[in-house]
Amino acid sequence: MTKINDLRSAIELLKTLPQQYHETDVEIDPNADLAGVYKKIGAGGTVERPTRIGPAMMFNNIKGYPDSRVLVGVHASRERVAKLLGAPVNELGIYLGEAVKNTIPPVLSEGKNPPCQEVVYRADDPDFDIRKILPAPTNTPLDAGPYFCMGLVLGSDPETGHADVTIHRLCVQGKDEISIFFAAGRHIDVFRKKAEEKGEALPITINMGLDPAIYIGACFEAPTTPFGYDELQIAGGLRQAPVELVKALTVNQNSIARAEIVIEGEILPNVRMREDKNTDSGHAMPEFPGYDGPANPSLPVIKVKAVTTRKNPILQTLVGPGEEHVNMAGIPTEASIYNAVDKAIPGLLKNVYAHSAGGGKFLAIMQVQKRSATDQGRERQAALIAFGVYSELKQIILVDEDVDIFDTNDVLWAMTTRYQGEQNTIFIPGVRCHQLDPSQDAAFDPKILSHGISTKTIFDCTVPFHLKETFQRAHFKDVDATPYLPDWFK
Ligand code: MN
Repeated sequence: MTKINDLRSAIELLKTLPQQYHETDVEIDPNADLAGVYKKIGAGGTVERPTRIGPAMMFNNIKGYPDSRVLVGVHASRERVAKLLGAPVNELGIYLGEAVKNTIPPVLSEGKNPPCQEVVYRADDPDFDIRKILPAPTNTPLDAGPYFCMGLVLGSDPETGHADVTIHRLCVQGKDEISIFFAAGRHIDVFRKKAEEKGEALPITINMGLDPAIYIGACFEAPTTPFGYDELQIAGGLRQAPVELVKALTVNQNSIARAEIVIEGEILPNVRMREDKNTDSGHAMPEFPGYDGPANPSLPVIKVKAVTTRKNPILQTLVGPGEEHVNMAGIPTEASIYNAVDKAIPGLLKNVYAHSAGGGKFLAIMQVQKRSATDQGRERQAALIAFGVYSELKQIILVDEDVDIFDTNDVLWAMTTRYQGEQNTIFIPGVRCHQLDPSQDAAFDPKILSHGISTKTIFDCTVPFHLKETFQRAHFKDVDATPYLPDWFK
């Protein structure tokens, strides 16, 4: 098997698998057309229909950018992510949960000429314009502007020096300016505020085009990865080799050595910018729940100092919502829930799926096995632990061990035949959840005190332990079907 240590080796693996990767030389406009094509071919998840799961797509011929190519959808299928991580597809969350227990910290490499610095564009060059160097896609015609959607921001605490990585929404605003959106409480935003209090800029790098293990590992959230935790060590654990860093050329920060593209810059103190200042669109870009988010009236600004790339770099992107977000956010969510519940109640939780409909964040299906009468009710305790370990989770569906959590028909079958609404629905109102769910607003329900507060809900679709015998599914004989089938079916 191909050893994966960067995006290019990941692509080499995908090329060996059927129907996981497609390249096209047909010219495409990065302004709304590229995302419009991928919406139909591979976005899936919370995206407006029609959409489907499909291959990752490399666009080799970008209108207006003869030296660039754009790759979308690397993580937009669970099967593909499993192959890329070398993990079993139905136990990806459990596999990732193991990796979090055995991490390897990144190392600073002293090597000369790292891949990510093969080509260097400095912003003090009078001709520098990031908009001409990198074909950042605009995902829909309503967007505030072109966005870097897979920019892994690396920043350090100005007091302690510890590093953190997170993917943030980055809108290109000018020749050397990018706005950055922070959801509440993000660790790099804490660093930014600390620097701003001292009147200082925060040096950062934006790393794009990476080993999938780095992107997925970066999507863990507290308490699994608390403040002070460098998420790059998770990729080290997954690959059993440290992520290599190199010193940036123009800011006091590190870059990921094997990245395709690095933007070096600093978040300016006391500068704010309207996200749609160039377009007055009123909208930002499609967000993971599947809606167009509003443009933010006041965002921090990154002053770009340099762009460094590999030769013939790949700009990696995603279309906003969709199966790619589901996997990147959801598999770490599953790992966090699995580890926490299994620690508290060993053996009860068999598996967990951060379902597509919630973008990998809002909805979890938890599969439990009640082993004795005293396990009755522990399934609900497991759900409470899940809420505790992942604050953005809104709804949990509990099912038994004979239900396939990845088959929504089977989950809804459990909800239909093993669930009574009045008895088996547990409401926990007034809990802060996630600001991007539009139903969590006083305009939706006046009892909601502020935007982002929600009723967390548990749907217990498990059979009461004392009735388990009555709820046996009809068992068919296990027959070998292959002699009866045509080749195309096997
Ligand atoms: Mn963090």
